Amino acid sequence: MTDQARCSLCRAPERRLWAPVDYQPTLESLSVGNFISLERCPACGWLWVLVPWEPFASFPYLVRWDRSAEDWQRLHDLDKGLTLHKWHEAMIVELYETLDDDGIEAVTWHRLRAHGRGPLEQENVALPDLDSFLTET
Ligand SMILES: [Zn+2]
Repeated sequence: MTDQARCSLCRAPERRLWAPVDYQPTLESLSVGNFISLERCPACGWLWVLVPWEPFASFPYLVRWDRSAEDWQRLHDLDKGLTLHKWHEAMIVELYETLDDDGIEAVTWHRLRAHGRGPLEQENVALPDLDSFLTET
């Protein structure tokens, strides 16, 4: 894992969010959960969480995962990915404004297609405290 330089494929560690743009990097699936999966960048090894949003699961968003694959699996298995889904949506809300023009355009297009069921529709999406979930179990 190269922590210093920006990965030429997934652009970690600078980038933390990929909107559903057609040049989104293709990563390797490490673990497939309940409409959510843990992916690994084949170039740098960084982990990402992929959620394919509706409609037709054709709007994939990648959020960088800074914890271990084991943590991801434990969190997923706690509640079939519910907490991870909440975390993923909250991260989109938090990171949306860091996207470039293409990314923002992709999100805008998605929201139009999703008829109120896309990301950024809720005013307050609480970011779950993943640490507390991990220490409770
Ligand atoms: Zn990478």
